[in-house]
Amino acid sequence: MKAFIPEEVVMNPRALEYETGRKVRAYFENLGVPILISNRVKIEGDTPAKLYQRSKKTVFITLNKEKKLRPCSPSADYQFSLSSSCPGHCEYCYLQTTQGEKPYIRVFVNIDEIFQVIQQHMDDHDSDITTFECSSITDPIPFEPMTGSLKKCIEFFGESRQGRLRFVTKYHMVDSLLDAKHNGHTTFRFSVNTDPIIQQYEHVTSTLDQRILAAKKAAEAGYTLGFILAPIMRYDGWKKDYERLILNIKEQLHDDSLNISFELIQHRYTETAKNLITSRFPNTKLDMNDENRQLKWGPYGKFKYVYKKEDSLEIKTYISELIQEHFKNGSIEYFT
Ligand code: SF4
Repeated sequence: MKAFIPEEVVMNPRALEYETGRKVRAYFENLGVPILISNRVKIEGDTPAKLYQRSKKTVFITLNKEKKLRPCSPSADYQFSLSSSCPGHCEYCYLQTTQGEKPYIRVFVNIDEIFQVIQQHMDDHDSDITTFECSSITDPIPFEPMTGSLKKCIEFFGESRQGRLRFVTKYHMVDSLLDAKHNGHTTFRFSVNTDPIIQQYEHVTSTLDQRILAAKKAAEAGYTLGFILAPIMRYDGWKKDYERLILNIKEQLHDDSLNISFELIQHRYTETAKNLITSRFPNTKLDMNDENRQLKWGPYGKFKYVYKKEDSLEIKTYISELIQEHFKNGSIEYFT
């Protein structure tokens, strides 16, 4: 995966009132990407697959108007966003159902206002340490070259007494963040999976080796490091492949004293997601056979299909043991 360059940029005229908006316009003008000034995004395509592909190459530069932060269990206390959607085409992506028919990318440029909402929230909830997730509806890394907003965000939290930042990525372009003054207040997480899963389902993302190398750089830059293993899937040879993945991370990081957090998420889907995935990826090999699953009530008011109890327990036990064996200071934050 090289730097992300969209095919079309639509710019809300109001975005140009902000320094980051003007910076983004100059960035794309320099690259020769067409920019349409408008507050409406039009995407055309005669099939769900074409609409999806075109959306993933369209960026809307606009404002984040959210004034209230939503909870973000289990990964953090609250969530906020610097962008939504991402250039990736991961077939299983949990955002398939939340971003509508046209999941075009939105990049928000009113950074200081976003920080004000976070600061107000912390002032109103005078608790000790509060964690904030900024990748629950996006992957923030591909947009960093155009905005520089994530670095500003890391430094905002670096100065915060009670706020702590968490984000996760499937991309490796992290160099511009390595000298950020994070002050140990940011957890830099990488989403990883077995090679067959990445190759088969995670299109337009960085390779596993690129992600692990980026994780090494983040750890060397003093960030707290985390890995999200998601979605964990059962398939022929899954145990061997997950063992290989854990060993690969261990060997490449070359430092078994690191305090690394692991989050473990088994593969799940809803009925709506299954229909959308099969319309966008008609040849998908994703295992969405309901007979191998059981229903679980989800926090967003929908049933989801997860692995059967004994299968899910086997995943949890097997992968937890691998982590405990190979990362003496590793901690498993949750399995879901
Ligand atoms: Fe979804 Fe993350 Fe893949 Fe983007 S990189 S499509 S957010 S799973």
